[in-house]
Amino acid sequence: MRACPISCTAVKQQFSTCSRKPKDVNQMTRGNPCQLPGMLPNYDPNDNEAGMKILEDLTENVEQIQQRVLEEIITRNARTDYLKGFLDGQFDKQVFKKTVPVVNYEDIKPYIERIANGDSSNIISAEPIIELLTSSGTSGGQPKMMPSTAEDLHRKTFFYNLLVPVMNKYVDGLDDGKAMYLLFVKPETKTPSGLMARPVLTSYYKSNNFQNRPFNRFNVFTSPDETILCSDSKQSMYCQLLCGLVQRQEVLRVGAVFASAFLRAIKFLEDNWKELCSNIRTGHVSDWITDPGCRKVVSLVLNKPKPELADLIEHECSSKSWEGIIKKLWPRTKYIEVIVTGSMAQYVSTLEYYSGGLPLVSTMYASSECYFGINFKPLSKPWDVSYTLIPNMAYFEFLPVKEKNEDGAQYVQCNGVCKENCMEKETEKEDVETVELVDVKLGQYYELVVTTFTGLYRYRVGDILMVTGFHNKAPQFRFVHRRNVVLSIDTDKTSEEDLLKAVTKAKVIVESLGILLIEYTSYADTSSIPGHYVLFWELTSKGNNHLPVLDPKIMEQCCSTVEESLDSVYRRCRRKDNSIGPLEIRVVQHGTFDALMDFCVSQGSSVNQYKTPRCIKSGEAINILDSRVVTRFFSQKAPFWELV
Ligand code: AMP
Repeated sequence: MRACPISCTAVKQQFSTCSRKPKDVNQMTRGNPCQLPGMLPNYDPNDNEAGMKILEDLTENVEQIQQRVLEEIITRNARTDYLKGFLDGQFDKQVFKKTVPVVNYEDIKPYIERIANGDSSNIISAEPIIELLTSSGTSGGQPKMMPSTAEDLHRKTFFYNLLVPVMNKYVDGLDDGKAMYLLFVKPETKTPSGLMARPVLTSYYKSNNFQNRPFNRFNVFTSPDETILCSDSKQSMYCQLLCGLVQRQEVLRVGAVFASAFLRAIKFLEDNWKELCSNIRTGHVSDWITDPGCRKVVSLVLNKPKPELADLIEHECSSKSWEGIIKKLWPRTKYIEVIVTGSMAQYVSTLEYYSGGLPLVSTMYASSECYFGINFKPLSKPWDVSYTLIPNMAYFEFLPVKEKNEDGAQYVQCNGVCKENCMEKETEKEDVETVELVDVKLGQYYELVVTTFTGLYRYRVGDILMVTGFHNKAPQFRFVHRRNVVLSIDTDKTSEEDLLKAVTKAKVIVESLGILLIEYTSYADTSSIPGHYVLFWELTSKGNNHLPVLDPKIMEQCCSTVEESLDSVYRRCRRKDNSIGPLEIRVVQHGTFDALMDFCVSQGSSVNQYKTPRCIKSGEAINILDSRVVTRFFSQKAPFWELV
């Protein structure tokens, strides 16, 4: 999900690069000698003009391309067990839309599990499924798994390549230096049948498409591949920062996939700059960097003692204020490339503090299911970012979503920032008809549904998008929020239901001591790095309205129980990635939730239908709660997590 435009050796070896530039959509559809399988036009990724031409063609011919994509997916896959059951041998688009249901993960989970357990890929896809991509969404406490094929890697490469000309259109001279992108791989596992199961970016970075990418002068990284591919995240981070600091004069842009990861790197730098400077001063990499690949490449980058460089970095880092530190350490940086839309919008102000006013660039919108869209105006402000869906990535449909909740208060604002105190509740959309990509209406809200080349058919992604405009004939969408997610710090996505389950388990502990949890809510506190979940609890003694005396050990146990009960992505972020801090329970005085209700009603919620929001976004509401906090407790141990 990050902008690393990489061209694809494997594809190039298979199909020699075409010197002709695609002229129109017909070249992108049938019988085009410049086309790779799966509706992917072939062109030289170093040729900006050709890249822009492809984007213009794709966005001009949305309708034809979408029809062709659907035709191709149906034709290829009509004989799979899944589609056969609905299509009954008919290869027809109308039949497809009439008979194939719009589904959630739970509907397709049995098929995915069969593949994970060794059944033939053919049950959902004519192309072999080569691995399963573990998404940050969870089902029954385990990560969801999305199918992936060899061709899909080429689709991603094609997508990454298209980000290059867009960036070059707005920022000059990106071939005059390097990008300090901090990229990481995550733990991977194997399914019972031996298929690899891992996050989508880990899959991509470990692929030939990434590792054997041809040189692209617009896209040279400061991090050697060995440091990106190092499975020890601490060594990886240390080495990537060291390489970035040594090459500071060459760095033209910095970034990571998500804002949370980039801020984690800044925190790491805050904690480790002295040691990093000492390595630069002596030209010797710290002994605890034991990964042989990392040691070798970082020693080469370090090359020799650089005392002046170490002095300079030490001078900047020892300054009391780290405001604008990015600009000071990497003075030629033109922008920070991190996703700051959706749940990442909560990090914008912190990033602005460290960046010294550099533009924050969200280049793309993607998921484990499929890569979706590109931001054609990369320098726009975070709250103005829209993504143009690329029509040859998948067949896109849209479920219309009501813009307002039952109280009439508008609940969605933009880019994941909710006006209301809590997120929208899941609504059943089974009876609602989908609309096609070319039929979406300006200003309307939709939930995205995809049919992919990899075996997902009419699959609800769970993202709510709003149409903000058009690029040629391609609609552009603002990411509004993810259906049902109330809390998110990093790649974790906790729903109201997950939270309720976890709180229910924890409150049993206090109930056994005669203490009742009468109300609770939560918020993601990102004021420090890493951020952490905060629960506000209003407690009372059984039989009276008094705040009970609380034993810190018991309350800390409640914090831990909540954490143990949250899903595996939360627990991985907390235990393995250290990207989430210890969960906190803030106990509030009696009557606090009445005050919260008064506030919500004053903001337009109806008294009759008022329900305590289980997640708070509004600063004012958080202040109301915070001003009534009596005591606070933190989890004292990281929850259990293991690869499954
Ligand atoms: P995963 O499948 O775990 O990679 O997560 C994919 C999800 O992350 C998407 O469905 C979105 O909810 C979210 N996401 C990805 N890219 C963006 C973006 N640019 N802006 C906001 N949310 C995003």
